[in-house]
Formats: sequence, structure tokens, C-alpha cells
Amino acid sequence: MPHVLSGPVAVCLDRPVLALDRPFTYLLDEEHGAGVGSLVQVPFHGRRVRGYVLGPTDDVPVRTLRVTAAVSPVRFFDEPMLSLLRWVSERYVAPLASVIARSHPPRVASEEAEGGARRGPASPAPGSGVSPTGPLAGYRRGPELLGAIRSGGGGEGAFVVRPAPEEEVGVAVEAVGACLAAGRSAVVLVPEAEPLPATARAVAEAFGDRVALYLGGDRRARYGKWLDIAAGRHDCVVGTRPAVFAPVGRLGLVWISRESHAGHREERAPYYHVREVAAARARLQGAVAAIEALCPSAEAVAWAAAEVAPARRAWPPVEVVRPGPEGRAPRLVSALRRAGRAFLFAPLPGYGVARVCRACGEPATCAACGGLLRLEGGKVACAVCGAGGVCAACGSRGFGIVRGGAERVEEWAGRVAGGPVRRVGPEDPSPFPGQGPGVAVGGYEAVKDAGPQGLDLVGILDADLAARRPGLAAREKALAVWMEAAGWARPAGRVVIQTNHPNDPMVQALVAGNPARFYRSELARREQAGFPAGFPVFRVAGSGDLPGALEALEPVSLLVTTVGDEALCLATVRPDRVPAVGRALRELAERGVVARVEAEPHL
Ligand SMILES: [Zn+2]
Ligand SMILES: [Zn+2]
Repeated sequence: MPHVLSGPVAVCLDRPVLALDRPFTYLLDEEHGAGVGSLVQVPFHGRRVRGYVLGPTDDVPVRTLRVTAAVSPVRFFDEPMLSLLRWVSERYVAPLASVIARSHPPRVASEEAEGGARRGPASPAPGSGVSPTGPLAGYRRGPELLGAIRSGGGGEGAFVVRPAPEEEVGVAVEAVGACLAAGRSAVVLVPEAEPLPATARAVAEAFGDRVALYLGGDRRARYGKWLDIAAGRHDCVVGTRPAVFAPVGRLGLVWISRESHAGHREERAPYYHVREVAAARARLQGAVAAIEALCPSAEAVAWAAAEVAPARRAWPPVEVVRPGPEGRAPRLVSALRRAGRAFLFAPLPGYGVARVCRACGEPATCAACGGLLRLEGGKVACAVCGAGGVCAACGSRGFGIVRGGAERVEEWAGRVAGGPVRRVGPEDPSPFPGQGPGVAVGGYEAVKDAGPQGLDLVGILDADLAARRPGLAAREKALAVWMEAAGWARPAGRVVIQTNHPNDPMVQALVAGNPARFYRSELARREQAGFPAGFPVFRVAGSGDLPGALEALEPVSLLVTTVGDEALCLATVRPDRVPAVGRALRELAERGVVARVEAEPHL
């Protein structure tokens, strides 16, 4: 039974506001049966609000009010988890209340009673001791990783795992197996729920009922699953972002699958990144954090963690060719003609772009916003605002089209390839459902964790577009997706990339199957731009006094935009300065100078 507290306790009000982000003291009566992690009701400025019990406190004001009621018998965190939640609150300058809210699914009160009865008493997970053998043992530093997992290797730090593409699933199963066999629990984080990533499926198949698949589902199912995990019914949890807080005991391993995927970042307060939370949790709870990616993010590279990788190069041959007429290199076309199964990465949507108006000869632009007009699905529309394609100069709807884009690639590939050709879209997201011949055409959204593909050919088209995509991390994101797609050509196929810049470090990294060279230039570029990788960045909105107040905190860089009365600031700070910056921002929030803080915004 969880420990029952009485006397003065610190309570975190369920009010995710930075200005109220401090504990408030209340007197707790034993009869409530509450303790650390309990959801209770307390009076606050004459109203009843909810809050979470953080623990006993010595900070007792003269007039202290009593906790009115316990809202739920569930304990939403214990002391070790509270340490992690506090770390998240400090690291991302986010109210502890918002961190607690993200750490478990929304309550479904009836599930607490009915679900518990239906599920029966908690039984310890069966200790089958299955420890599948796999490729890790033969990897460089693989034995070190496995040893750290088996010995409950707290303090070993984080590992970055860059597997052979066809072993991406196998290394995850092997690491989880080693952890479970050592009698500890494992958490596996995947970046998306639909379609179920191959890594999630493989872990669930390998360890059966011991695994809680904590992704997707309706509110009731999610909350019920969380209660099951908290009750100790599973010693392996596989899930998306929130699973990094899964209430398992005796944590031995946190495994992050495809770390560079955008799905590992929470897009609402507290804007956390799974990579950092996993590493912090592993540190606090004496577990191993393993970060798996074919191309890890700049932040993961900046950690300079131990890299676990195959002893011998496990990468398909990559041919670099000029795009050729209409974006079709003869080498690519002839390779496609011979390929049984192929994937063509075509990042541009649509069939082409409107270049000129056929009626008046003016350059084609959107009449509503001046944006680019694109032919997609048989219709010309603005790529920016979505308005129908009408000439800004004369109102005509006829345009000369420059062909290029996934629809056009589908068309010409259909004439070249021997097998069926299909375009991968949102409604048909899985590139290769079967094993038969065929060609799939798709962009970023098509590159999923689909398991080993064994393709004959992967073509990377329009590679030079990556450099023109907006955002500081656009290039590394493009390289990560290229590498994941290229991995589908293992073990016996090959890759053709079309570019006019064969010496670009991105292209060379793809050829080598190793992003190290790319990051040598990329990390320098990030630093020059004022955003060194691994240095926390905050976007802070507030009053006109904000820029001066932030300047006083000695940021590494500070960019200020003023919109009316509001100042919008982008501040990069040294990692060791984050606690002090957080305290200052909370004080500024109480004084009304800071309105909003977003950590690690998209740059
Ligand atoms: Zn427009
Ligand atoms: Zn016109």
C-alpha cells in the first residue's frame, strides 16, 4: 500500500500557469488516505481547485487551509517519478502542473473502479527469462551496451545505436530481451502509432503479455492501460511520447526508436523531447538510455555518447548522378527498368508547377496571396493559401505547367518499371504491404518504420530541394529520411541519388552511410547561426520590458521581434544556466512581463 501522509503537505495546483508554478502548503488529514501523487481538492482564493500532493513540507505559513477531499484513490506519481517530472519542469521552463498532466492519460474515473475489478488482482509479470540473441553482441561497443543493460548499468550514460538498416528491429528486441532477462523493466519509444511501427510489433511479438502497447486507443482504453502498467502487470511498455513517463518499476532500459523523427517532440507545453527525458530518467533511476537512429539528430551527436554500430560497414552502394532531363537521370531510369521492387523518394507533391499564364503570358502567381500555383490531383491551386488557380494578372485559369513532383514521377515510372507503380499517400501510408514486385513513390510521409524491405533500388529524387527547405534542422531531417529510405535497399539492392551537388556533405554522408562528415559542417553552421546543438532555446513572448530582462540573463544569443506591444524573443542559453533562467522567467511571469514560454521551438 502506498504511504499515507498527514500534516502539512506541498501541493501543486492543477493550474498550468508559470506565474503559479510553485508549491502551496495545505494540511492533509490521514482519513483521506492520500500521499505523494494523490489528486486532491483544495480551497484556493475562495474556490475549490484540484492539485497533486508532492510530499510533506516544512514550509508552513501562519494560516494554512486544509485539503478538502481526495479526488481519486490513484497515485499519479511516486517520489522517483516526481524527481523526473521536476526535472522536465525545470529543463523546459514549464509549469509542473502541465508536466504532471502530460505524464499520464486523462482520467476516466469509472475505469478506476470498474476496470480494476475487471482486471483482477495485480500479478507479477511472468519471468520467462527469454533473452533473444541478436546482432548487438557483434557490434562495436555492443557488448558494452548489453553489459550495462544486464548489470542495471546506471551511470553508464546514454548510448547512440546506429544499426545496420535491416537489423533496426532486431537490435531493439535483443536489448529489451537482455533487460527483461536481468529482471528489470524496459520502455520502448516509437515516434508514431499508425501504422504500427515494425519495432513495436516485433517487441510485442517477442515478449507477449509482458508487453503493454501504450499507443493509440480511446480515452478509456488508454487510461485502463496506464492503470495496468502502474499496477505492475507489464514489465515492458511500448509506446509513443507519453510512454517515457510510463509508471514501471525497476527500470533497466529506455530505448528510443528512430530518434531523429519529429514525432518524438511534444508539440504542447511542456514541449519536451523524448530523447532528453529518457536520458534524464535513465540517469535518475539507474537505467540505460539507448538512442537508435540511422542518422541521429544534431542534439544526439552533440552528446558525444558511446556509439554502437556494426563492426563492418552495412550500407547499400550509393550512386550519385546528375538529375538529367526532366529530373530523370538515365542511370536511374535503367536501374528502375531492371528493378523488381523499388522505392522512389519524391519529396515534391503534385504533378507540376504553373510557370506562366497561357492567356496573358505573365508569370503565374496566386491571385489571392502571390504564392506558388501547383497542379495536384488534376487541379491548379495555390501551394500557400489553397485558393483556386486564377491568374493574378488577367483572371485566366490556363497555365503552362513545368512538370515535376510525385504524381509526375508516378507517371513516368509507370512507363519504365515492369511491375505495378503506386503513390504512397495519407490514405495508403505503407509503401510495401506485400513481397511482390512493384514500385512505390512517396515523400517524407512515406518513409516509416516498416521493417526490412529488401528492395532492389531506392531512388532519391530532387535531393537539392532539401537545402531550400525552411528551418535550421531541415537538412538534417532530410538526411535522416534519405538514410531511412536508403536502408530499404539492404541487403542486396542499391541507391541512386540525383543531385547537382555531389560534394555536398549531406550527399557524402548518404554515400558513406554515416552522418559524421555532414555533422562536422552542420554543427559549425548551427553554432554560427547562434544555435549551437545541445544548447537549450526558448521562445518567450511578453511585454516591452522582456528583451532587457532576457539580456540581463546573459544568453548565448538573443533575437527580438516586436509586434505591437508584444515582444517575441528567441533566446539560446548555456545548458548549466537553465535553472537560473527558469527561476527568472517564473518571476517575470508573476510580474506580467512574461506571457508564454516555448522550449525548443522549431527554428
Ligand atoms: Zn495563395
Ligand atoms: Zn494571365
